[in-house]
Amino acid sequence: MSSREATNTNAPRVLIVEDEEALSLLLAYNLEAEGYVVERCERGDDAELLLLEGPPDLVILDWMLPGVSGIEICRRLRAREGTRTLPVIMLTARGEEDERVRGLSVGADDYVVKPFSVPELMARVRALLRRAAPERIAGRLAAGDIELDRETHRVRRGARDVHLGPTEFRLLDRLLEKPGRVFTRAQLLDAVWGNTAEIDERTVDVHVGRLRKALSHGREPDPIRTIRGAGYAFDETFGR
Ligand code: CA
Repeated sequence: MSSREATNTNAPRVLIVEDEEALSLLLAYNLEAEGYVVERCERGDDAELLLLEGPPDLVILDWMLPGVSGIEICRRLRAREGTRTLPVIMLTARGEEDERVRGLSVGADDYVVKPFSVPELMARVRALLRRAAPERIAGRLAAGDIELDRETHRVRRGARDVHLGPTEFRLLDRLLEKPGRVFTRAQLLDAVWGNTAEIDERTVDVHVGRLRKALSHGREPDPIRTIRGAGYAFDETFGR
């Protein structure tokens, strides 16, 4: 648990599916330098398993892959409820350009022809995330009188500074990304501790309790709603 706490699991997650190792490493290096959490895999069938376990925020998907082709993966992503709108950038080799239309027709959001410039791909990743999931890359989240600054790690309620531990900070970060949305304990565990962590779901309740205590002093209304049997939501109108 402590090693997971050191990493920023709330950073946008990018999956690179590419069988050219040098290219995959180069992309991972550049994405990590921009603050993304990166996972890499080289085979299409391995990518399918990873995507079923827990979808990232964006996929960079090579066209020609061992196992299952990129185009088939994309088609399957679009057919599944949980990944229908998952941002996908397809990589195609020179000579496969005619296939671009096919790539877009199975639902890729963007495509890049190899060889491409890394800064250009980085720009496309940012643009696509900004369009598809602006809350994942925002520098600052706010709802009601509560404000969270991701760059300075400061949280304020009105004029007051709120002091949070790292776990409570990430919990609030995830809740504030979608005010009003109900997150299950499993979703919060995944977002805050990472999906590989083996942590009891009741741990979430403990940290939500601490978050509540830090957010609501005196007569300040409690902005976190408990939905019995479901989970938690940030709701700035709750308790008023
Ligand atoms: Ca390939």
